[in-house]
Amino acid sequence: MSASLFDLTGRKAIVTGASRGIGREIAIALAGAGADVAITARDVASLNETADAIRALGRSAVPVALDVTDVAMCRSAITEAADQLGGVDILVNNAGIEQICRSLEVEEELWDRILDTNLKGAFFCAQAAAKLMAGRPGAIINLCSLTSEVGIPTAVPYGSSKSGLLGMTRALAAEWAPLGIRVNAIAPGYFRTAMTDVFYENEGWQSAMLSKIPMQRFGDLKDLRGAAVFLASDASAYITGHCLPVDGGFLASI
Ligand code: NDP
Repeated sequence: MSASLFDLTGRKAIVTGASRGIGREIAIALAGAGADVAITARDVASLNETADAIRALGRSAVPVALDVTDVAMCRSAITEAADQLGGVDILVNNAGIEQICRSLEVEEELWDRILDTNLKGAFFCAQAAAKLMAGRPGAIINLCSLTSEVGIPTAVPYGSSKSGLLGMTRALAAEWAPLGIRVNAIAPGYFRTAMTDVFYENEGWQSAMLSKIPMQRFGDLKDLRGAAVFLASDASAYITGHCLPVDGGFLASI
């Protein structure tokens, strides 16, 4: 197997929600494989650390402000990012939020905020990127979740958004294959980030979760690097509409 299959030299990537956590890790992984990377978050100053890490790898970093709940901004920010990069070959729809809530207490505002961020925003970023990719091979990677596949109590808006994102991944893969655009997803298992930190403060929760993970450990952000580079690169040239769990065996064992 040639390492060049995974080489992203010369590729232009956009990663949404790259100010911290999984998005930052994936942005740096793509740069490590050779891509120049536009990184987005709501506050452009929050992207400094990610940009520094990308530049330390000798790649270009383009920080762009983007609130993915604003459809007009999705279009303008993706266009601005591609203009500054000189094109776009890879989009990682990573920006996302979660807020647990019992379903009997979910208000419309919470439902809309989660769905608009995790699902609507991802669609309109994908649409904007696909218009710019047309005519050359492109790869879109959506950050799904275990909740794309299984029902988790108190995560109904989140699970609905992530199940929708998986459906969107498959439908766009089918529709855009003739354009040369592959659309895949990664479903991370349990990774400790700002989004999930609150759960990890509870030791009872930690041991209950670990008992469901065959590899008996939580994910390390580094564990996501290979999946992201694989799905962005020619190594996955004939793979589209697929969701790759990176979960230590959680989904395989339920
Ligand atoms: P973090 O909270 O650490 O990071 C979330 C990122 O999304 C930040 O960069 C944040 O940027 C950005 N973001 C949030 N809302 C918006 C918005 N409206 N517009 C633009 N950007 C936004 O979360 P994680 O790294 O844990 O999660 C990243 C993705 O991975 C999410 O889609 C999440 O659902 C998914 N995931 C995470 C898992 C985990 O265990 N951590 C498991 C499964 C899936 P800022 O706030 O600076 O604008």
